[in-house]
Amino acid sequence: MIAQPAPHTHKTASMKTIGLLGGMSWESSVLYEELINTAVRERLGGVHSADLIIRSYDFAEIEALQSAGDWDAAGELLASDAQKLESAGAQLIVLCTNTMHRVAEAIETAISVPFIHLADATAVAIKAEGLETVGLLGTRFTMEEDFYRGRLESHGLTVVVPSEDERTIVHDIIYNELVQGELNRASLEQYLDIIDRLGAAGAQGVIAGCTEIELLVTEDDVFIPYFPTTKIHAHAAVSAAL
Ligand code: GLU
Repeated sequence: MIAQPAPHTHKTASMKTIGLLGGMSWESSVLYEELINTAVRERLGGVHSADLIIRSYDFAEIEALQSAGDWDAAGELLASDAQKLESAGAQLIVLCTNTMHRVAEAIETAISVPFIHLADATAVAIKAEGLETVGLLGTRFTMEEDFYRGRLESHGLTVVVPSEDERTIVHDIIYNELVQGELNRASLEQYLDIIDRLGAAGAQGVIAGCTEIELLVTEDDVFIPYFPTTKIHAHAAVSAAL
């Protein structure tokens, strides 16, 4: 009788499948994928790469819901797709945008696998550096509403945001340039000026609280501790997956 080969799975037993809710925008989702795959290769070696299931939206549909303030519809959409990722085998869910954490609760209640909250991962990174007061750059929603600042504050952090005029500049550069794949030197300089003023206002570090900002502003550009959320979140996802 011919011996049967031992049953085996194609999956690395210790690595969980990560479900990504992406495309918000794809410019930063590409970076998420690269960072996650690179970190898995560094940790597991050889030809290992991440085990991912990706739902990538047409960002125009998401942006329309944001500008209409229809967060309920956005929450239902993301929650239902998070469920689909779970049904397809995702063992943890990563929402690849700061802004859409506005509806994190709807997603978390819809799934039974862990949700890796971006603001929690960022707060942990900031506290690991021993900082208490941080500046926050992001969309107007992220800089002004409680869902994100409040979450950081619940970790004992004090959050400083730019002035009204500066918030308009930061927000407009995100929607008019960064999510459209445009990186402009003049916008980088505007961001760096705003970061300088946040530092003068007491920020000991600054959060790139929009997943595209780190495509424009790199760690080398900033002279205070810099917290790029795509990188922080991607690494938190890998730590949870391995
Ligand atoms: N990716 C950005 C963020 O992290 C902005 C795009 C969006 O509104 O989702 O907030």
